[in-house]
Order: sequence, then structure tokens, then C-alpha cells
Amino acid sequence: MSAPRTAPEFRPFAGHRVAVVGLGRAGLPAALRLRDWGAEVACWDDAEAAREEAARAGLAVADPAAGRFRHDALLLSPGIPHLLPRPHPAAAAARAAGAPILSDVEYLFRAVRAAGSTARFLGITGTNGKSTTTALIHHLLRRAGLEAEAGGNLGPAALSLNILGSSGVYALEMSSYTLERVASVRFNLGAMLNLSPDHLDRHGDMEGYAAAKARIFARQRPEDLAVLGMDDAWSRGLRAGLVARCVPVSGTAPQPGGIWAEGPLLRDESGPLLDLREAPALPGAHNAQNAAAAAACALGLGLSRAALAEGLRSYPGLPHRQEAVAEVAGVRFVNDSKATNADSAARALASYARVVWIAGGRAKAGGIGSLAPLFPRIARAVLIGEAAEEFARTLAAHGVPHEIAGTLEAAVPAAAAAAFAGAAPVVLLSPACASFDQFSGFEARGERFRALVRALQVGRAA
Ligand code: ADP
Repeated sequence: MSAPRTAPEFRPFAGHRVAVVGLGRAGLPAALRLRDWGAEVACWDDAEAAREEAARAGLAVADPAAGRFRHDALLLSPGIPHLLPRPHPAAAAARAAGAPILSDVEYLFRAVRAAGSTARFLGITGTNGKSTTTALIHHLLRRAGLEAEAGGNLGPAALSLNILGSSGVYALEMSSYTLERVASVRFNLGAMLNLSPDHLDRHGDMEGYAAAKARIFARQRPEDLAVLGMDDAWSRGLRAGLVARCVPVSGTAPQPGGIWAEGPLLRDESGPLLDLREAPALPGAHNAQNAAAAAACALGLGLSRAALAEGLRSYPGLPHRQEAVAEVAGVRFVNDSKATNADSAARALASYARVVWIAGGRAKAGGIGSLAPLFPRIARAVLIGEAAEEFARTLAAHGVPHEIAGTLEAAVPAAAAAAFAGAAPVVLLSPACASFDQFSGFEARGERFRALVRALQVGRAA
């Protein structure tokens, strides 16, 4: 059933002129796909190496900001601002010419509908938990035998996905940037997990950010479904404006007509759906919120309660998000390298009673002062990267035992030694920092952690 219409005669964008700017993970496949689908594509990236790669792939390279903007639309990579803090020249040129600025999801939607498919679109947004919830929904649908594709922010890029038939479902992780750049997409199911201040440099203020996120529900109809997280005031405030049927979800509080967690029990008004302790890849209260949202979507798509429970149990989790890497001599090693700010690290720390905590990297504004209520859970902190000294001062002020290891290579054996000596049953890498002082990204940091834990295993077996 997959990709039946990517045949040469499928050219839904014939005659459409599009400038693709930002040739990264999503931009390059988008340019190639749009060209195959008949569009007249001009590519640009501020980095010469990316332009060269596009040229090698046979794409036309031209700066859309040089001279008059001659395209019908601009497909702009989500990482590139179109307004704040400063519009990219290509975005300024498109605006001046009155051309829309779009995202790859908009083109996927148009292509699917042009193919005559009524495949359903499910969009997931929120400040935290998007990738987890998207991957979880995808897993639930696949396990239940539905034809489903997932992508967007977490990858694969929207225009790398197959064209599905009418029984198919797309589960798409939507960032606020991507949501600002859809024009006709209607989400048959839209899910908003939570809202807290983030990316305000791009959206101006919290109102602007919330307005961008609320676009997940734009163009919905009464027969559609709006899954809404009720655990923060900003999200709750969106309920009044919904057109679609609302399923409220919560990680903590009962929701009439909705799905919520009562302690470890995920439930709705008909009774329990699953004891989440049976879902090892979904630890912590934050994941209860994610599970509730995914469950609302899955039941909305017709899954049975039994299929839902089975899917939650068998969900394998995403790498670098509280990923259980190994158990060595009774100590669990957890890779939460994706926790690049204090808020994310707080979720992980709150999931364990006692940990040896590896943290640090390139500090974010605010440091780790907000984590103080969780400090009693930290048996020992082992610090790395640029933030080590600053974190050490905060921990010292609260009497938390700590040491500066500097690098992950030194930190893993030091943390392991403390845990093996009985300090705590868990070693948690949840850095509360960006990784760029020592790594190319959070993935590289998490992979290094895994390799170091493996080396530890080998060392103990020898
Ligand atoms: P996103 O895709 O929105 O960045 P992820 O699913 O990748 O979110 O999770 C990133 C981190 O955010 C996790 O490691 C966890 O610490 C935290 N997190 C996940 N889900 C939630 C949630 N529902 N509420 C708050 N924090 C969360």
C-alpha cells in the first residue's frame, strides 16, 4: 500500500515554483521530492558545503534573496527565523513579494490529498514530550496493525514519508515553527501536550508562542478530535476556542470525559487502561501525561483497550530520553542526554528516589537552582563541561556531595564507583545543559555515555 503514487506520472506540483532554503536533514529530501513531483525547485543554504551537496544531487542552486523573489512559495527550514529575532533575507524577500512561507508538512498534506488519499493526519505539539508521544502513537498504531507513518521534527522529515492510502495515518511531531508555516493542513486529530515558556526569542512572548502552538487546532471540524493537556493554565485556556470534540488529558488529575493518571494507573471514566509500572519505557509523571495523550489518540482512531494496553507495555522508548542502557552489578545506567535544560532534568530526577547524577555541559540561563527541591534525591553529583564550576557552587550551597570530573570519560567510572559502593541504585546522565562545549549534539553525548557504560560492563566481566 505504501508509496503507490510516487510513480513518474504523479506530478501534483507541476508548474509550481518553490524556493527551498535550509538544506539540512529535512530540506534536501524535500527539494528532491518536490522536484520529482513536478515542482520547479531552486535551493539555497547559507553554508557553501550544503549548496555544493545540492548541486551534486542535480538541484538548481540560486539565492532567492538576490533580486526579485520569483517563486510561488518559500519552503523554509524550521531552524531559520522568518520574523524574530531577525528575518532571514530569503524570508524577507518572500514576504515582500507576498509569497507564502511554508513547511514540508504543508507539501506532504497537499500531495497526499492530490493523490486522492483521505489518510488521516495526526499532529502532536507542546513544549515537552512531543517526540516521545509521537513515537508512542506510531508504535501503538503499528502494533494494532494500522498503516501508519511517523515523522516531522523527530525525523524522518515529512517529505521523506510514503504516500499512504486512505486507511493510513500520519503521526507528525509539530514544532511551533512548523505550525506557523502550514496553510491548509487540517489535523483530524490534534494533540497539545503542555505549554511553558520556550523559544520566546522566536515568538516574541508567551502569547505569541501559545498562538503558534494553538494552530494545531486550526481548520479542525466538529468531527475531528482535539486532545488537550490540562496540566497547565496556558493549555487549559485553549479549550474554549476548540471546534473539534475535546478529549482532556492529564498526568495527575481526573478529567471528566478524558484520560488521566491516578498514581500509576492510566484510566478513563470506564475504568483502568493500564498500570503504567507495566510500561518500563514510560517512567515518571511526565510520561503519564504523554501516555494519556497517546491513549486518547489511539482510542480515537478505534484501537481497542486491550490493543492500547499491549502497545503501551511493549513501547521500546526513544534513545537518549531516560533510556535504560544497562544494568551492571545491580546498578541501572540511564541515558537522558536529551535533557538539555533544567526543566527536562527535573523530570528525570523526579523519576528516581536516589541517583548518582552526571550533569553539566554548556549551561543554559538560570542554572540548576530550580532543581533544589530534587537535590535530596542526589546521592552524589559528578560534573562535566563548562557548567561544572557553576553547578558545583549551587550544589555546595545545598550540601549535595559532588565532584568535578570534567569529561564524560572520567565521569562514568567515577559515578559507577560511587553507585557500586552503595550510594544509589541508578546512575543518571541528565545533563541540564546543551552538549556543544564537548560534543556535536545530544545524540553524540548519549552515544558516548552508552559506549562508556559498555566498557564498564566489559571491565567487570574481565
Ligand atoms: P520534545 O520532543 O518535546 O523535546 P521529548 O519527548 O524528546 O520532548 O522529551 C525530552 C525530555 O523532556 C525528556 O527527556 C523529559 O525529560 C522531558 N519530557 C518529556 N515529556 C514531558 C512532558 N509531558 N512534560 C514535561 N517534560 C517532559
